[in-house]
Amino acid sequence: MSSQPKIIIFLGDGVGDRPVPELDGRTPLEAQATPHLDHLAAGGVCGMLNPISHGRRVGSDTAHMAILGYDPFSNYKGRGPFEAKGVGIDVLPGDLAFRCNFSTVEGRRVTDRRAGRISSGTDELAKAVNEQAGLIDGVQCIFRESVEHRAALVMRGADLDHRITEVDPHHEGAEYPDCAPLPEAADDPNAIRTAAIVNKWVQAAHAALDSHPVNQQRRAAGLPPANIALPRGVGTAVHLEPFAKRYGLKGAMIVEVDLVRGLGLYLGMTVVDVPEATGGKDTDELAISRAVVAALDSHDFVLANIKAPDLAGHDHDAAQKMGAIAKLDSAVGYLLEHVDFECTTILVTGDHCTPVTYGDHTGDAVPAVFYGLGVRPDNCGSFGERTCMQGGLGYFTGFDVMPLLTNLAGVQAKFGA
Ligand code: ZN
Ligand code: ZN
Repeated sequence: MSSQPKIIIFLGDGVGDRPVPELDGRTPLEAQATPHLDHLAAGGVCGMLNPISHGRRVGSDTAHMAILGYDPFSNYKGRGPFEAKGVGIDVLPGDLAFRCNFSTVEGRRVTDRRAGRISSGTDELAKAVNEQAGLIDGVQCIFRESVEHRAALVMRGADLDHRITEVDPHHEGAEYPDCAPLPEAADDPNAIRTAAIVNKWVQAAHAALDSHPVNQQRRAAGLPPANIALPRGVGTAVHLEPFAKRYGLKGAMIVEVDLVRGLGLYLGMTVVDVPEATGGKDTDELAISRAVVAALDSHDFVLANIKAPDLAGHDHDAAQKMGAIAKLDSAVGYLLEHVDFECTTILVTGDHCTPVTYGDHTGDAVPAVFYGLGVRPDNCGSFGERTCMQGGLGYFTGFDVMPLLTNLAGVQAKFGA
């Protein structure tokens, strides 16, 4: 073979689903026309991916870790460090890192956990928070905005303890709780002090946000103000074996969510910025595919993720999910035209299911298709939940993905003589 073998993983975030009554019992993948995904299924081998194991519900972070072959049970230290790394804040030993949401509160009651999915002005809001709440009791607090309502916070100082509760109540209409030590650390002075610092930061940030001009404008426009930032997902510094060292492959990531970008940075992969990839339902999927094709010039392995299907699942919106799946399909169509699958193996699947009837991630297996170099086709003719259940690969886990791909692409060392 003249060309170097290449590997692509293309993920529709949360793309898998369950039967939807308003779609006559079909899933969004089954209801939406997906000519390019069906082309992959007809010429490839299908199966069902359990990101970690049968029935296990996963986050995008633990799912991506498992799919790349890193055991989240021993390596996962909370989502905070990935979020922070993804927005460009290093997490050092001793630091605490949190995921935050810009949210809307009236008093202590959370009326919108995503502040109307605020999409502009969060950079100014974060700047105001850092001016007012950048130093609490000698602890440096570094806050930075991410996509839409998402943000990250890193606390840096002596004797911080991660054994503390979350401030985000996870439900709208609920009051946000104070941060407190976890039961196992209830008497630990460092945990007690850390919780108190988190509470002071939340209140100082709230004061900076509530009267901020960005929020005055939002109120005037009838939009929910982003008047608080609620920390959760606390974690500590992580160390992961570099991807290139583990697999001998030069890897790139093109992903829309800072959580997953952070994982790529921890793995030493090239994280490619695609400004047109907004992480929202308006994202430019062809820009993502163009970036994949460009990255293949100088990398052996590219992982791409389009976030829109997951958003639609969380919003219980079947029509929106079908629209997101149409984007995934057209992204794959671009790859079919511009990638040489004689020397490239691709896996198209999701990191988990986000069923529109459920509104969150479930532990259901995700439809998956391998296509191109090395693949022995099965008899599946279309890409969906019911068809992939009949696929030649059966059920496999995230930990099988890299062995399957490196085997097909012919870049795996033999085990034994
Ligand atoms: Zn996900
Ligand atoms: Zn999700």
